[in-house]
Amino acid sequence: MKLVLLGAPGSGKGTQASKISGRYGLPHISTGDIFRENISAKTEIGLRIKRIIDGGDLAPDDITIEIVKERLSAKDCEGGYVLDGFPRNLAQAEALEGFDPPDAVIFIDIPLRKLERRLTGRRSCKVCKGSFHVDFIDDEKVCPDCGGELFIRKDDSTDAVRERFAVYEEQTRPLEDFYRKKGRLKAVNGDNGAEEVFAEIVRAIEGEK
Ligand code: AMP
Repeated sequence: MKLVLLGAPGSGKGTQASKISGRYGLPHISTGDIFRENISAKTEIGLRIKRIIDGGDLAPDDITIEIVKERLSAKDCEGGYVLDGFPRNLAQAEALEGFDPPDAVIFIDIPLRKLERRLTGRRSCKVCKGSFHVDFIDDEKVCPDCGGELFIRKDDSTDAVRERFAVYEEQTRPLEDFYRKKGRLKAVNGDNGAEEVFAEIVRAIEGEK
């Protein structure tokens, strides 16, 4: 099964992708994670994209598409994938159609005005990569799942979040129509708890809707 998770920044793509990956045994591929790893490791790509990502803009398509194409050609993707954060614009979606098109695109639907606080209050774990909201954890610095150190992503600052929303509206929003027209878009209500959203995704995937 080949799945794409589509949704605004903070809509819960990462959380849901990791649950889907656990349930169906599919590799979870997050372009955001791949870029952040490159930035931490100070690779050539990391150095090129750090400022773009910190400011909330999109990394260049050529680099992004190449990274995904290569990742999807790995052995563990033979049985499918869960893509989280890719594609993010029409050029990327068209490219994916050319090398490994998804069977279904799960669109996590939630109004942007509900997301700003989700992102600015988000803390991410350096170790397990989980993310948590300050309203729901006891200690803002310690991961409740693995004890790792929590940090604030640079692009979760208020200015960067606004830029990410603007980029989403302009570049990623058109993908809803792109996949709807292909009959592959499955929308779920993202304005619920993570477990409820996941249950709706499972129903959508298994066609019980
Ligand atoms: P995410 O963790 O998915 O929110 O991604 C964090 C940042 O990585 C984004 O704001 C972009 O700067 C960059 N990024 C992630 N995925 C893509 C993509 N498909 N195309 C371009 N830039 C991306």
